[in-house]
Amino acid sequence: MKKNVLVIAIALILSACGAGKAIVSVENAPIVAAIDLVNVIDDRVQVDLNPGAFATSTVIFSIPKTVPGTYSSDNYGQYIQDFKALDYNGNPLPFTKIDENSWSISNGTQLNKVLYWVNDTYDTENEIDDAVFSPAGTNIAAGSNFMLNLHGFVGYFDGFKEVPYSILIKKPADLIATTTLSKEPNRKADPLWDGFVAKRYFEVIDNPIMYAKPNTETFEINGITVTLSLFSPNNVYKAADLKEKMVSMMGAQKKFLGDVDSTKEYNILLYLSDVNIPDAQGFGALEHHTSTVVVLPEAMDVGRLEQAMVDVVSHEFFHIVTPLSVHSKEIQYFDFNDPKMSEHLWMYEGTTEYFANLFQIQQGLISEKDFYERMLGKITNSKFYDDSMSFTVMSKNILEEPYEPNYANVYEKGALINMCLDIILREKSNGEKGMLWLMKELSKKYGTDIPFEDEALLPEIVSMTYPEVDVFFKEHVIGTTPIDYDAFLVKVGLVINDVEEPTGYFFDGQVPYMDVDVQNDSVVFIRENIELNSFFNDLKLKRGDIFRTINEQQINLETLRPIIGESFGWTPETVISMTIERDGEMISVSGPVGQPVKQVKKIVTLEGVTEEAVALRNAWLKN
Ligand SMILES: [Zn+2]
Repeated sequence: MKKNVLVIAIALILSACGAGKAIVSVENAPIVAAIDLVNVIDDRVQVDLNPGAFATSTVIFSIPKTVPGTYSSDNYGQYIQDFKALDYNGNPLPFTKIDENSWSISNGTQLNKVLYWVNDTYDTENEIDDAVFSPAGTNIAAGSNFMLNLHGFVGYFDGFKEVPYSILIKKPADLIATTTLSKEPNRKADPLWDGFVAKRYFEVIDNPIMYAKPNTETFEINGITVTLSLFSPNNVYKAADLKEKMVSMMGAQKKFLGDVDSTKEYNILLYLSDVNIPDAQGFGALEHHTSTVVVLPEAMDVGRLEQAMVDVVSHEFFHIVTPLSVHSKEIQYFDFNDPKMSEHLWMYEGTTEYFANLFQIQQGLISEKDFYERMLGKITNSKFYDDSMSFTVMSKNILEEPYEPNYANVYEKGALINMCLDIILREKSNGEKGMLWLMKELSKKYGTDIPFEDEALLPEIVSMTYPEVDVFFKEHVIGTTPIDYDAFLVKVGLVINDVEEPTGYFFDGQVPYMDVDVQNDSVVFIRENIELNSFFNDLKLKRGDIFRTINEQQINLETLRPIIGESFGWTPETVISMTIERDGEMISVSGPVGQPVKQVKKIVTLEGVTEEAVALRNAWLKN
């Protein structure tokens, strides 16, 4: 309380001198936020926020509506309950709630602190339509796990986002914090209290903290100290299980990036969610300058978990290039409650996602075939979104309809835009320059503290590169013309072709060609939403046909099973006879079963490919 007395005295002098503006905090005296993780009541924790003294009669306190990297309005204020503003005698001050995230407090000069309870997002995600994306969400599981995405716990006072914060956390003795938030330098080690400091509000939310029982691995990768902390509710996984994969993956990323300046410390906060209880359901991750929060299901087998971690963490780590380094003023001066969006999601998310795939082929973590399959997957998926929507217009308006539902296309078409630009740059520079070169050049001009003007970026890139890049931007990034991917793939000697692949008679891998109509005597019929294999096509069967008999056996789910079993022993010459019902009519068919194949689209090498195209492809994928 001593500090506050001093603060008041100086604030009074300042107002008396007519210093005008709402100058409050004395010389960087921090806003002190105390969070109590020990006395959890009704799945909520209490936060006590003590600012300096205010010189204005009205003080506005806010919790973010949105945070960088999520591109959605999440209204974290909806999780704040029992809000109170107290004066220096501990009496409540009147306030009004301005909107879901902001409180206006009267008699601001009397304000000592605000107190409120915070509820978490993870255990209500299944009840809410537009739930907070889990890696940006919060968890309060008394005694076992706290996911402190601090924007959900700690707010800011209007006009005072640039003042320092001191964050004090009372915590159960057996839980440890994983975070890149700086420890309070003069604080003595205390098993019950942790102290952290942040230079400004942005730093508070850029450094999430996870509390859990120790399950941590730390390793060095070319000058970066990486810490992986993992929460596995049923103790299925240890951080050590994923360490080897993370070491090789991040080592490859570092090699790919070369001399790009990066952080000295990087933390991976991995929360594995329990699918059997109400728990986090938004799987993926959110980027920060020196850490990432990853949420994945604990039920994944180790192979899938490793691959998901490679894909997700590599994407987040590449965000250190953009937007964490190269970004516009909209991001530098982010308004947490009235955000202005930048035009360049094609770069922030698109380039990042493209690099997260490209480095894997360049560094030999995946094969060329795998890489082509991923790019073709993105081409297919991108068609589920509005392919004629301007990417810059979408980006600028991403919080609004009709743009918001197209957001996930930044990971599909956004990555493909970069693939095409990469091919153009390689072609025009005789294989010398690509997207990585461009991003390195941009990060020499801009960086963490030097944003660009939003509308100046594309002309700047054009001035650094080629007129063809200008045409591409105007047609396919600013413009609304869908990209003809064949025209770019042909430059590197590739083409999208239909090819035949082996499949089963009744199943394509795990996916059955049939379904059961429970409304209609549980008859078995050929599924409507599947591309049929050669077995069905050769017998001239169609989607929706109902199986009545096979080899004179009446067909239902029970009697079909042994036939499916037998089919594994069929040779192409085996003859089958069937009666099927189509539009109420019985039709008999028979013939040899053949060797079942399906038609799939693949990116393959062009016939008669030139040496030049192969050289360009090698420059693109192996340089
Ligand atoms: Zn991202």
